[in-house]
Amino acid sequence: MKKNYLLTPGPTPLPPEVCEALSRPIIHHRTPQFQTVLKEVQESLKAAFQTKNDVFILTSSGTGAMESAVVNLLSWGDKALVIQGGKFGERWTELCQAYGVKPIVIDVEWGKALDPQILKDYLAKEPAIKAVFSTLCETSTGVAFDIKGFAQVTKETGAVLVVDAISGLGAIDLQMDAWGVDVVVSGSQKGFMLPPGLAFISVSKKAWKLVEESKCPKYYFDLKSAKKACDKTDTPFTPAIGIVIALNEALKMMKAEGFENIFARHKKLADATRAAMPALGLSLFSTDAASDAVTAVRVPAGIDGEKLVKTMRDEYGVTMAGGQGEMKGKLFRVAHMGYISEFDIILGIACLEKVLKKMGHAFELGAGVKAAQEVLLK
Ligand SMILES: *Cc1c(COP(=O)(O)O)cnc(C)c1O
Repeated sequence: MKKNYLLTPGPTPLPPEVCEALSRPIIHHRTPQFQTVLKEVQESLKAAFQTKNDVFILTSSGTGAMESAVVNLLSWGDKALVIQGGKFGERWTELCQAYGVKPIVIDVEWGKALDPQILKDYLAKEPAIKAVFSTLCETSTGVAFDIKGFAQVTKETGAVLVVDAISGLGAIDLQMDAWGVDVVVSGSQKGFMLPPGLAFISVSKKAWKLVEESKCPKYYFDLKSAKKACDKTDTPFTPAIGIVIALNEALKMMKAEGFENIFARHKKLADATRAAMPALGLSLFSTDAASDAVTAVRVPAGIDGEKLVKTMRDEYGVTMAGGQGEMKGKLFRVAHMGYISEFDIILGIACLEKVLKKMGHAFELGAGVKAAQEVLLK
């Protein structure tokens, strides 16, 4: 008998309330019933984004909202700055290139954060830059970038700050309006505790000026049509009706817990995970700006990283993520994101210990669980 436990940075586990909502018979989307749900969802999403701006709901995975940001803000030949410190930073660069936008890349060493002063210097040198693309939680490295610091810089310039908050939103703090972030994108299958299928994007007044000038080709992801529909509590195309209904349930749960409490829970789970790893003789990949949503850990010398992840998953049903891109086989990543509680983390660490022990890594059995428990007891 094997049970399954998902400790991956997307998709994340679904709460029973969400599963129940997903199992309901489908309703039509151009009806007062659906409109009631959509209205609630539109309001609650603003709370999650900490903004008064509209939050548009797109039917796609998170990358659709990233693409939407690029094609709605920019035109062929425009210059953009990309803060690239991992696989998802690279996605911004690739999206710009796909639409003939010229990316200037700040190559940040994987696992490291970026001092906002460096951003300031780049923008001073290149005043033609229209948009700065960054990532809240770089899921491939476990780094949380200093978005507040970046926004302090961009606020003083003509450039807009665009943040991929796909894996961070609803897990760690991002104050769109208070910090002065111009565009925030997110997705359903990480902090929002839903299946993949929805993407979200919110646009400030400053960034909306760029939307009006942008000449990139677009149709499905055109934010002007999204806004026109949103103003009438509608969507331009058939939405993922079932997931929107489930989103309403997830947002009710999030409101009931309270965003401050959600962030505190994620921090505690992250602290416990980060305490467990050195106790097992493992080192954390991101030490200077570790994200509270996902922890990346270096695979110790002599251990096959891919086999480690595969054995936990296939023999014990505990799914963690491996390394991506240049870190393939060199990292494993434990997500503590969304519908995750203390004992999910303890279980994950216990499984990691068992498999590491079987693979011949030397440490005292129980040391990781003990270190995590000590943090959780505080
Ligand atoms: C998961 C993730 C994405 C990609 O989202 P998809 O839903 O797979 O399109 C983008 N950025 C970050 C930081 C992510 O964690």
